[in-house]
Amino acid sequence: MAKKNLVILGSTGSIGRNAVWIAHHLGEELHVCGVAAARNIQGLADQARELRCEWAAAADPVGLRDLRRLLPANCRAVAGEAGLIEMVTAPAVDIVLCAIVGTAGLKPVLAAIRAGKTIALASKEILVMAGEQVMAEAARHHARILPVDSEHSAIFQCLEGRPRDSVRRIILTASGGPFRNTPAEALAGITSAEALAHPTWNMGPKVTLDSATMMNKGLELIEARWLFGYPAAQLEVLIHPQSIVHSLVEFVDGGLLAQLGVPDMRLPIQYALTWPARRPLPLEPLDLARLRTLEFSAPDQNRFPALRLARNAMDAGGTLAAVLNAANEVAVSRFMTGAIRFPEITALVGRVMERHDNQPHPTLEAILAADAWARRVAAELAVEGVRG
Ligand code: NDP
Repeated sequence: MAKKNLVILGSTGSIGRNAVWIAHHLGEELHVCGVAAARNIQGLADQARELRCEWAAAADPVGLRDLRRLLPANCRAVAGEAGLIEMVTAPAVDIVLCAIVGTAGLKPVLAAIRAGKTIALASKEILVMAGEQVMAEAARHHARILPVDSEHSAIFQCLEGRPRDSVRRIILTASGGPFRNTPAEALAGITSAEALAHPTWNMGPKVTLDSATMMNKGLELIEARWLFGYPAAQLEVLIHPQSIVHSLVEFVDGGLLAQLGVPDMRLPIQYALTWPARRPLPLEPLDLARLRTLEFSAPDQNRFPALRLARNAMDAGGTLAAVLNAANEVAVSRFMTGAIRFPEITALVGRVMERHDNQPHPTLEAILAADAWARRVAAELAVEGVRG
């Protein structure tokens, strides 16, 4: 079997480290030829050396200087967006796994798509921000986008080989996060340490916090809308605290298909990297008899307004989803530093969205401008106080 060359963007993060584990596990099948990170330059250099990478990319010139000092001579160091683009478009690259938190991977992913690479996509923010453009480019260049997010991987597996018009609803499951049963009046007192303790998944800080506000599920609704091409009206969210049923598809005859598994990202990551093949994976088997109970309930949109905000962005289209995403990034970082309280995260996002002059069918430049505008307005509103 020919070895596939993989680039991992965000290799030092939670998804990135799991992907490195998969690469070791798959052995001869996969070669990690490039890695990229931002702050953890020592960890990045260690990965590059251990994996015998041809490329390593830092986020900025300072990181590049340190990286050059740490890398072996046969590994090329690059930096910034241009460096990522150079690395992902290199002729030898087959698959690009984008697992950079936020949207810094957008232009490198677009460049990789135009170069005909397969994209394994974890960075949901990219599709939230520019889903229409990314999917159009992928169609134009016959580049495949394979989902890594566990819910989207589940939906992808349930949809495989099914006619488009046989689908009635796509149902994304959500654990509900650590505050699923917290009364509305107690939400204001939540600390960042409490918000960073997810009950079922072990993930990076931004996605963990987004899970606590349920913005993660809002972003995933928008991600699903672009990945699978079904309208918002056919997409639903179901609370499932055990995170065993990763998502479901309901067909027109009322039958449902679901994908189940232990909550471990190595399964969807591996599936994206080996698709359409399935390879053995030494995870703890799912013991349904021991688990006994799987619970489901409808989400409470009054306590967690993020789902409503995401639906508004989907219905409006245009630049509004990019605004939601950018404002959310700012709000999350302000909550982490203690500048705003937990319920103010979504309140701030809502206020930025209300002020936005939405542009239908935007160009990439218009999306980037809306993103920058939303970051500036969110930062101003966070200083003023979002309740004011
Ligand atoms: P982490 O915070 O754990 O890791 C983020 C990674 O991105 C790090 O390697 C970081 O480098 C790197 N990075 C940040 N900025 C840049 C940049 N400008 N250039 C290059 N690299 C950069 O995040 P996660 O792994 O949790 O999440 C990554 C993405 O995957 C997110 O979009 C998230 O929503 C999605 N996702 C995550 C899941 C999970 O289980 N963790 C599940 C499903 C989706 P450094 O460490 O050096 O700062």
